[in-house]
Amino acid sequence: MTHRTRTRTPLRGPRAAAIAALAALLTVSLTACGQEARGGSRYRPDDGKGGTIGLAMPTKSSERWIADGRNMAEQFQKAGYKTDLQYGDDKVENQIAQIENMITKGRRLLVVAAIDGSALTEVLQRAHDAGIPVISYDRLIMGTENVDYYASFDNERVGELQAGYIVDRLNLGEPGKGSNERHTIELFAGSPDDNNTKYFWNGAMKVLRPYLASGQLVVRSRQTKMSQATTLRWDGGTAQKRMDDLISKSYAEERVDAVLSPYDGISIGIISALKSAGYGTKDQPLPVVTGQDAELASVKSIIRGEQTQTVFKDTRKLAAQTVRMGDAVLNGKKPQVNNTSDYNNGKKTVPSYLLKPVSIDRTNTSLLVDEGYFTAGQLT
Ligand code: BGC
Repeated sequence: MTHRTRTRTPLRGPRAAAIAALAALLTVSLTACGQEARGGSRYRPDDGKGGTIGLAMPTKSSERWIADGRNMAEQFQKAGYKTDLQYGDDKVENQIAQIENMITKGRRLLVVAAIDGSALTEVLQRAHDAGIPVISYDRLIMGTENVDYYASFDNERVGELQAGYIVDRLNLGEPGKGSNERHTIELFAGSPDDNNTKYFWNGAMKVLRPYLASGQLVVRSRQTKMSQATTLRWDGGTAQKRMDDLISKSYAEERVDAVLSPYDGISIGIISALKSAGYGTKDQPLPVVTGQDAELASVKSIIRGEQTQTVFKDTRKLAAQTVRMGDAVLNGKKPQVNNTSDYNNGKKTVPSYLLKPVSIDRTNTSLLVDEGYFTAGQLT
């Protein structure tokens, strides 16, 4: 082909120098286009691959978020992007500063798992003004138009799985019709500033309420409102203190049979309080304690017979879904969603993709090995 023949012919002299200079100039400007757009530049949906994705994660204090960040970075890189992964150390002001920095550096897309879902309005306005699209990761960002998509698990289903497990384990049967035996339960909720908290709570209470109404379940502390049960920043130590308090005030004469816990870190705190109060023996077995995230410490606790249940949410799949969504957005395509009605953030209903959570107890921890989430060695 002519084109080939021409490029093979070595050029010499001033004409060659001029062409080389032009080529160098072109390379520089093409590279600049391919790299991150600088702060203030507009988002260009037809730019195709390349550029850097800003990943703003909440904390390294929980395994799941470490895995989420790692999985997304790996998968975005495989898809041809660079990544800027930041953890906010559960401090709202850190996360805002990190996002501001990502905007200044011209990140092409922001993926944000918010620490406080309502605290990002201003910074996301800046992202919007700079033409940077935003995916809300796992936790819905509230009170702003400037969130384009939401990728998460079916959060209400998580609560249903936890509460449904308690109902099964206590053999309650149909509400009002099954066993008349009265069981005690205490309720824990997640962080009040995390929008997921109310979905987990509502899902669980939908299942538990009829049993509370029939008297088959009794909350001796009477702390049945979500506002009384929340645990700021999902902190296990805070939950442990609350459980200590509940045991000493409400369970001097009667045992607690079940504890609804929304997250493995909280479950570990609850179990510590229970053990300090003498639970965990043959005469006084631990109550049914639920959880979420299938964190290694909790899965091991389940195998040991301490924590009873957790909810497995495969963070690798969530990362893959988010990468697909992000890649589509950056290529001017519509990402696939499967829910366009349930996640309203107060300003808009955010198009969402929800994955399915799975309940895990002693009988099916092997699923985590089969799925490659843990190795068999990690669980022994
Ligand atoms: C996530 C849960 C997690 C919790 C605490 C929630 O927003 O959906 O998977 O257990 O935060 O990190």
